[in-house]
Amino acid sequence: MTVFKEEQVMAYSFELGPIRPPSEAYSLLIRATINCPWNRCKFCRTYKGSEFRLRSVEEIKQDIKTAKMISDEIKKLSWKSGFGNRVEEVAAVVVNNPPNQAYHNVALWLYAGGESAFLQDANSLIMRTGELVEVIKFLKETFPSLERVTSYGRSKTAAKKKLAELIELREAGLSRLHIGLESGYDPLLQYMNKGVTAAEHITGGRRVVESGISLCEYVILGLGGKERWREHAIQTAGVLNEIAPAFIRVRTLTINKRMPLYDEAENGNFVRAADEQILEEERLLLENLGCHSNYVSDHITNLLQEIEGELPRDKGKMLACIDKFQALSPEEKASFKLGRRLGIYTKLNDLYDSPKRQVVEQLTYRLNQGKNQVDDETIYTLMEGFI
Ligand code: SF4
Repeated sequence: MTVFKEEQVMAYSFELGPIRPPSEAYSLLIRATINCPWNRCKFCRTYKGSEFRLRSVEEIKQDIKTAKMISDEIKKLSWKSGFGNRVEEVAAVVVNNPPNQAYHNVALWLYAGGESAFLQDANSLIMRTGELVEVIKFLKETFPSLERVTSYGRSKTAAKKKLAELIELREAGLSRLHIGLESGYDPLLQYMNKGVTAAEHITGGRRVVESGISLCEYVILGLGGKERWREHAIQTAGVLNEIAPAFIRVRTLTINKRMPLYDEAENGNFVRAADEQILEEERLLLENLGCHSNYVSDHITNLLQEIEGELPRDKGKMLACIDKFQALSPEEKASFKLGRRLGIYTKLNDLYDSPKRQVVEQLTYRLNQGKNQVDDETIYTLMEGFI
């Protein structure tokens, strides 16, 4: 297959930020702003040490044009190599051997059908509404195949936007906002330096919902640690009930050295909760949720990713997953916790898959030098590898 010319590869590249939500794995990534304008949350390491900067509309448009040139190149290659408009097949080849990261992103997006785009980094809403509207319109004009344009935003910023501005963004093509709620418990939000109150979460979230933009709120399981898990679960459910977002996504607290929370955990100011307690917290959260939302657990850090469904309809089924884990023997629980964090198990029934169970048992033995158990520190260390 013809390869791309070197000078083209050098010229055809665009800015890519460090993260996107798991659900945007196949989205075209366009970096609307650089880094995080707040950057003080204790549990977050993503942009620490990096300065925030707005980008000009022209700069962002240039990246969109470059993405278009790459997309056209891959399509041309498809025709040249005899695949015609079966561009997905050529895109798959480029994904496996991309000349640079920009090609990788565009190829992956084409491979998946070219239907969604995600505006990076942490809070695109901080842009002037008119400028963000211009960027979204340009993006949609450049790629008419786009059916969904999504982005991260902070609820504090959403709360400062007028409803009319959010409606303008929705009409321009912004289909979904991903907001880090993390918790609805004020003392915890304050301790974690989230820079937003529960009341601001509610104002910002409700305004997004009212504008017709689909809202996805992220909750961090375990954020209350051993001491504040109950308040965290109950107050978070209360805030979510007020907002009623289309999606509630949970992920589990993971701490590494680049987070300010690491020192707090080291000096004993923050005591981490272990898996069993976090599941009790999730049970309390679910029991207290009364809104109509899709509950999603698609983050690799979560012990039970199968706790998913539509609320309130599937609440009983989701709680039954927790019951099922809690009914396991201590050995089964230990095996599942480790197997999940080694990437061997994905769901509880995998415990009854003998080859998988044997691999986990062998690794347990090796990791713990003969003991048939793993301690929480080993689990925490393995989880660090996920972020
Ligand atoms: S606002 Fe989001 S990206 Fe910024 S520091 Fe907090 S969690 Fe991290």
